[in-house]
Amino acid sequence: TRGLAEADPELFGTIEKELGRQQHEIELIASENIVSRAVLEAQGSVLTNKYAEGYPGRRYYGGCEYVDMAENLAIDRAKKLFGCGFANVQPNSGSQANQAVFLALIKPGDTILGMSLDAGGHLTHGAKPNLSGKWFNAVQYGLNVETGLIDYDAMAALASETKPALIIAGGSAYSRQIDFAKFREVADEVGAYLMVDMAHFSGLVAAGEHPSPFPYADVATTTTHKTLRGPRGGMVLTDKEEISKKINSAVFPGLQGGPLMHVIAAKAVAFGEALTDDFKSYIRAVRENAQVLSETLREGGMDIVSDGTDTHLMLVDLRPKMLTGRDAEKSLGLANITCNKNGVPNDPQKPMITSGVRLGTPAATTRGFGVAEFREVGLLITEVLDGLKSANSEDGNAAVEAAVKAKVEALTARFPIYG
Ligand code: PLP
Repeated sequence: TRGLAEADPELFGTIEKELGRQQHEIELIASENIVSRAVLEAQGSVLTNKYAEGYPGRRYYGGCEYVDMAENLAIDRAKKLFGCGFANVQPNSGSQANQAVFLALIKPGDTILGMSLDAGGHLTHGAKPNLSGKWFNAVQYGLNVETGLIDYDAMAALASETKPALIIAGGSAYSRQIDFAKFREVADEVGAYLMVDMAHFSGLVAAGEHPSPFPYADVATTTTHKTLRGPRGGMVLTDKEEISKKINSAVFPGLQGGPLMHVIAAKAVAFGEALTDDFKSYIRAVRENAQVLSETLREGGMDIVSDGTDTHLMLVDLRPKMLTGRDAEKSLGLANITCNKNGVPNDPQKPMITSGVRLGTPAATTRGFGVAEFREVGLLITEVLDGLKSANSEDGNAAVEAAVKAKVEALTARFPIYG
């Protein structure tokens, strides 16, 4: 049978264009990464043909002997990576992993306590437009505006006032280590379950470069495609047997039908990679690069929320340069530097404009960028933003964007992806 190039040249061309974009741009979106060829191959495999509702050894379809092996490999490797007794690797996304926990442990109308979206929490942590904010009584904690750190005292006070059934720790734009022991203490005081959503930093936990949510969390969720560098998907972990049974029923048949066996196979491959020393070195480099990038940006006149980072990401406050996140994202994009606008604590701008950008090092570190390259990236960002600050309204920042784009192309050419 024909391959993609021949069978569907139009779609094939689109994928080729996307590969070119990934090759020629510096990817600083903190939630993205570049998977290995092995992960791609597993995800593009014949396992996509298989229906396998149920769990290994207990399926509702015949012919599952090999997909059972693949899923068991993913489960065993996940448990080893995170030092816990149970893993459900079937959630199709991080959002569905979180929904599975809600379905397993709480009821509509219950109170949940999570970090607010504008403080760096995720939509699924109780934001108004999300199911988590519609079906539960969602109460939200935030940051201490002075320090940019989670306001643990305010969070504890909110918990004792509102008595949540579930407390969520973790976020999408929070760059510091979270005090899991403190969250446990608060959860115990009010009789709540504690869920740690480690979607962003699970790769750091796997590599021993971030404290583990266990033994503090009742349950931990993660995406598999961020720092963990696997295929797009989710996972739920726990060390408690009574919870594990509820999680399995919540994922299937509670929430999903047939699991994506090709994605589960790719998860197994990624988890195998994450167990290696190479992955530990990679994550150390991710953190080191984040330090260098944040220091370079500070030297360039930007503020970093909480004055730095413990992880792979940082939140850059652009107010010292009198720029908005929206304008910065656009101008950097025209210079082939990809990132996303992001609110900063107490942001005076609207969510579609913002005063900040979120930057992360996982993807560029995968392609081989080290401290020298990240220093250069920091200088290039500063060049674009300084240009933007002094740009006139007629031709905007086009000249600086073009000059930086040429430098980005020279830099990215030295680090081919899938080369
Ligand atoms: N949880 C956190 C903390 C996240 O940052 C994200 C993704 O951005 C998710 C959950 C949701 O993951 P997905 O996009 O796979 O639904």
